[in-house]
Amino acid sequence: MSRKPQMIKVEVPKVVQDELLAAAAAEYNRECMGLLFGWVSKKGTKYEIDCAIPIQTARRTKDTVYVQNKDRKRLDRMVKVFAPRDISLVGFYHSHPNYKPSPSPDDIGATLEDAAYMLPKGRKPIEIIIGVSAKKRSAGRVRFVEKEVKMNLKLSEFKKGELPDGERFVTAIGRLIRVPVSENRYQEYRMAAWAFYLDPRDQDIECFEACQIKVTS
Ligand SMILES: [Zn+2]
Repeated sequence: MSRKPQMIKVEVPKVVQDELLAAAAAEYNRECMGLLFGWVSKKGTKYEIDCAIPIQTARRTKDTVYVQNKDRKRLDRMVKVFAPRDISLVGFYHSHPNYKPSPSPDDIGATLEDAAYMLPKGRKPIEIIIGVSAKKRSAGRVRFVEKEVKMNLKLSEFKKGELPDGERFVTAIGRLIRVPVSENRYQEYRMAAWAFYLDPRDQDIECFEACQIKVTS
C-alpha cells in the first residue's frame, strides 16, 4: 500500500477563527464570503493565515455568493495593500447555511477561476468553508464547545463520475464550535479547509483535497 501524502496544514490564529465565526454568524442564513491572506511554505504543505477579510460587495442569497465583475477592482486593491509586506492571497472563505462544510462542484470551479486571476501562479488556493446549522435543541443544559474534530463528510452534491477515484467520503480535520443561544438550544459551526487544483496530467479535471486546520494562539 502506498502511503497517503500528508494533509496540508492550515494554521489559523485564534483571532482569525473568531473572525470567520462572526462573519458566518452575521450572515446566518445567507452565505458570507471573503479573502484569506497569509504565507505558504516552499513545498506548499503549510499555509499560515494572517487575516480573513470579508468581501463587502459580495452578492448573496441563501445558497450562492459571488463577486460581480465590476467589483473585482476592489479585490485587486485588497491584494495590493499587503504586497509590500510579502503577505499574499492564499485563498477564500465562505459559509454554508444549514449545510456541511464540504465543497460543491461549483465551489471548486469558482475558486479555481478566481485563483487563476488573483493568486500567485502555481499556488493551490485553499478554501475555508463554515457550515452553519439551524438552532439545535439539546436534552441537557448547553455548554460552549470549541474543539478540533475529525469530520467524515459525504460529498453528496457530486454526481456519479464527478469525483476523483470515485471517493464519496472524505475526512477533514477542522473545528467545531457550539454556541448556546438559550437554556436548551445551541448554534453549531463546523469549519473545514480544502485545497483545490487542476490535475497536472489533465487540466480539465478539477481536484480537491481535505486539509487540517490547526488553530494557533
Ligand atoms: Zn459552497
